[in-house]
Amino acid sequence: MKFYDAHNHLQDDRFAGRQDELLATCEKSGVARMVVNGACESDWPHVLALAKQNKTVLPSFGYHPWYLHERTTGWLKALEDFLDCVPSAVGEIGLDRWKPDLPYDHQEEMFLAQLNVAAERNLPVSIHCLQTWGRLHDLLREHARPAKGFVLHSFGGPAEMIPAFAKLGAYFSFPGYFLHERKQRQREAFKHVPPDRQLVETDAPDQLLPDALNRFPLADANGKPLNHPANLVAVYEGLAGVLGEKLDPFVARVEENFLRIFGDVT
Ligand SMILES: [Zn+2]
Repeated sequence: MKFYDAHNHLQDDRFAGRQDELLATCEKSGVARMVVNGACESDWPHVLALAKQNKTVLPSFGYHPWYLHERTTGWLKALEDFLDCVPSAVGEIGLDRWKPDLPYDHQEEMFLAQLNVAAERNLPVSIHCLQTWGRLHDLLREHARPAKGFVLHSFGGPAEMIPAFAKLGAYFSFPGYFLHERKQRQREAFKHVPPDRQLVETDAPDQLLPDALNRFPLADANGKPLNHPANLVAVYEGLAGVLGEKLDPFVARVEENFLRIFGDVT
């Protein structure tokens, strides 16, 4: 069986140079491809290097709203330069009204600029959204979007909005974090996602799954737990369980979905 991670951050500094070892474990576990999302300018060279060295890595370049303070005046041009280097996707980009002290106007400006780049080049784009789902929907509806579609990563929005987002071209990706007992609302939402729009992610090194499901315990230099990207298989198993489905058909369907949106990025 082949497993596809729709969203992680393999370049993250917390992995402290252990990327080769992590990738080897992922490949042994059946991880066929992973979308590795850069989140700011200083990330992008590392994402590019990982993609050049490993076929498993599908690079994605974007500016995450959490890091917008760090942007240089030439950030958008720099983003386009990275997109020109290798076949790639756009992300992680997004909107966030949950984290304090992020100037919201600047977030929208950066989000729309990057959405436009993705639309012009028809590249799949990965979107982070916290507590601003209505506004995200309006912006996506009013602006050009990549014909290929877009991924709402770690989808924690209201289940009632799923049809409206799907109509605009959304795929919905779910992390192992939603397998924690208390995340019942998110699991319920997953059941409402059209089958041809379901995706699975680890968001490693973040969004750890419950301890009992964590097959690859890992920690940073200070002993803080990290999510190993090879936990992807456990996330698939958990989500197949949420849908009350056998693993095989779920894996086959997610592969089709992943290849439909990300398949041309080679
Ligand atoms: Zn992420």
